[in-house]
Amino acid sequence: MSLEKVILVTGGSGLVGKAIEWVIENDNGKYGKQDGEKWIFLTSKDGDLRSAEATRTVFEKYKPTHVIHLAALVGGLFKNMKYKLDFLRDNLLINDNVLHTAHEHKVKKVVSCLSTCVFPDKTAYPIDETMIHNGPPHESNFGYAYAKRLIDTQNKAYYDQFGDNFTSVIPTNVFGPHDNYDLQDSHVIPGLLHKCYLAKKDQTPFVVAGTGKPLRQFIYSRDLAKLFIWVLREYKEIDPIILSVGEKDEVSIKDVANAIVKAVDFKGDYTFDTTKPDGQYKKTASNAKLMKYLPDFQFTPFEVAVKESADWFIKNYDKARTGNH
Ligand code: NAP
Ligand code: GDP
Repeated sequence: MSLEKVILVTGGSGLVGKAIEWVIENDNGKYGKQDGEKWIFLTSKDGDLRSAEATRTVFEKYKPTHVIHLAALVGGLFKNMKYKLDFLRDNLLINDNVLHTAHEHKVKKVVSCLSTCVFPDKTAYPIDETMIHNGPPHESNFGYAYAKRLIDTQNKAYYDQFGDNFTSVIPTNVFGPHDNYDLQDSHVIPGLLHKCYLAKKDQTPFVVAGTGKPLRQFIYSRDLAKLFIWVLREYKEIDPIILSVGEKDEVSIKDVANAIVKAVDFKGDYTFDTTKPDGQYKKTASNAKLMKYLPDFQFTPFEVAVKESADWFIKNYDKARTGNH
């Protein structure tokens, strides 16, 4: 029997890739692996996608019919501020190589990944899918933002010139098992989980960067994974779709710190280091388009998802990406 779909996931070893793998293997309902699907999860060891030649070699080896493109240089606020050119250049190269090689291989569908960080800094709220190119992004992450915005431009150009079915999704801030827990370069939830864990273990102060006032919408990686699988199988538009919890589920960084303290069962106090930047105050996004397609989708409650993530991190501390090895 010839396989109907060979689905190649670039960035398969990261936070989102591991969540998709988990759902494909563990979901007994509609999101799990279906007959005729073969899933391949790539890591950077399979090939550096900044290289056109390495990208071609990977596609020749696996001959994908479908691609979920996650591979990217990714990081939190502080890493984005330090390495703007790397964020711009690495991501431009990776995206151009993956999309063009997918085009040459006549891949039937590519789903790439943007982020709500790519939206204009000065904007009306809530942000929706039509606003990506409306003005400059926040200066803290413009390298990443411009590289990611161009995916949307490329998707439209591949469709207009060749009819290629290349689309993209726009997740809000993601967290979950297999995150990057580096103390400096990670996103806020894994960074604070690691810091709180150390504060509890070593009885040292737990310090949260910034004022705690910025607002974010967080999506649990396993919820996002289900939505990615739905987009791959069902979503027909070239235009992107925001994958997020609703506007009412937006939380402050202080709420995040409180949820982490609870999940780690940390008994001490914590402080804010207001000499550290806050980054963008908010980037409130509308999930109205998603809700129109999937009105009954159930998101995992934030505190439940933080607890699952904390439990995973503590259990897997020795092998997690902590920057210690
Ligand atoms: P992650 O945990 O840092 O994983 C990044 C993945 O990309 C890893 O599998 C990594 O491989 C691979 N990769 C990086 N550079 C590569 C290269 N040059 N060649 C080949 N592979 C490379 O990131 P993530 O959080 O899962 O992010 C996945 C996607 O979601 C990205 O496109 C990101 O922009 C987007 N996104 C993330 C968030 C968030 O909050 N995390 C929010 C919105 C959108 P190795 O493991 O081998 O290094
Ligand atoms: P962003 O949504 O792209 O800004 O990504 P982050 O996940 O890096 O979140 C940044 C927000 O969390 C800013 O307001 C930071 O000041 C705040 N924050 C507090 N503590 C930390 C930390 O340990 N790491 C990171 N990355 N951000 C932190």
